[in-house]
Amino acid sequence: SDLLLEVENLHVSFTTHGGRVQAVRGVSFTLRKGETFAIVGESGCGKSVTARSVMRLLPPHSSSIDQGSIRYKGRELTQLSEKQMRELRGSEISMIFQDAMTALNPTLSIGEQIMEGIIRHQKLSRSAARKQAIEMLGLVGISNPEMRLKQYLHEFSGGMRQRMMIAIASVCNPSILIADEPTTALDVTIQAQIIDLFKFLQKKTGVAILIITHDLGVVANIADRVNVMYAGKVVESGTVHELFYNPQHPYTQGLLDSIPRLDMDRSQPLKPIGGTPPDLFAPPQGCAFAARCSHAMEVCGVYQPDNTGLSGHHTVACWLQDPRAKRISQPPAKKA
Ligand code: SF4
Ligand code: MG
Repeated sequence: SDLLLEVENLHVSFTTHGGRVQAVRGVSFTLRKGETFAIVGESGCGKSVTARSVMRLLPPHSSSIDQGSIRYKGRELTQLSEKQMRELRGSEISMIFQDAMTALNPTLSIGEQIMEGIIRHQKLSRSAARKQAIEMLGLVGISNPEMRLKQYLHEFSGGMRQRMMIAIASVCNPSILIADEPTTALDVTIQAQIIDLFKFLQKKTGVAILIITHDLGVVANIADRVNVMYAGKVVESGTVHELFYNPQHPYTQGLLDSIPRLDMDRSQPLKPIGGTPPDLFAPPQGCAFAARCSHAMEVCGVYQPDNTGLSGHHTVACWLQDPRAKRISQPPAKKA
C-alpha cells in the first residue's frame, strides 16, 4: 500500500525544572508515498516535537511519549530499540534541520559525511560510495561535486549547506524526508530554490515529505495536506486548498490574515494575532485558543472542542463548527 506513516493520538511530555510540559497533546496524521504533508504553527506549538518523535530524536531522559502510536509501514516505532531506530534513520526516514552547521559535523569533509551513511546502510566499498555521493551532489544541484567532496561546511553558503544536508539525508533513498523549518534561515530567493529542490527530488524518487514550518507561504508552495497546530493540538486539518480557501478555525484565519497574500488588497494592513499561546505546564481547561479568540463563547472556556468533520478531508476542532455546542447547557453559574 501507499501508506507509509500513521501517527495516531500522539502525546509527548517533557520534564523540566518548572514541572511537566505537555508539548504534544493528541496529534494524528498519515503520510503516503509521494505526498507532502505540512505541520504549521507558531514556535512552541509542538510541531518540531512531533517530527522528532517520529525519528525518536527526543532527549531520552527528560521526554516521554505518553500515549499514541507511530507506525511506519505497519511497524510500531515507539516500541523499537535505539539500535533498530538507528537502522531506520537515514535509510528509511531521514531528517533535515534548519541549521546545517549544528545538524552536521563541521570538522568532517562533506564527502566523509555523505559516504558514511552509504557505507553503513548499503555496505558498499569506499569507491562505490564515493561514486554514489558524487551522483547525489550532482542531483541536488552542486556543481563540480568531486572537488566539493573534500570541502567543509564553512566553505559553503547557507543555501549550499541546505543542499548538502538534503544530499546527505537523501543518499540512501529513504521513503520519508522530514524537514524541520528547512528554509527558515535562508533569504527568499534561496528559500524558493530549496523548495524547488524538494519538489524535484520527490518527482524523481517518490519520496514522501513531512515538512514542519511556521511559514504558510512554504505550505502553499509545497504541501498537499496540512495540520495546523496550536498549543500541542491539531486545531484544523485538510488539503492545502481547503485550508487556504475555506479556513474554519479562528487561529487558522488569524494566521492567514497575518501573512501577505497575492490575492489580497495591498492597502489592507496585515493583522498579527494578538496575545500569546497558553502555558503548557497547565493547559487551559477548555479551548487553548480561547484567550486570544474574538469568537470565544462560554462553552469554549469549559470544554475542549473535539474534531468536527467538514467536507472532504477537512476537520476542525472548534465549538463554532460543532453542532453540539448549542445543546450543551450553560456552564455552571458563576459564583456570586
Ligand atoms: Fe474560539 Fe471557541 Fe473555537 Fe476555541 S472553540 S477557537 S475559543 S470559537
Ligand atoms: Mg521548531
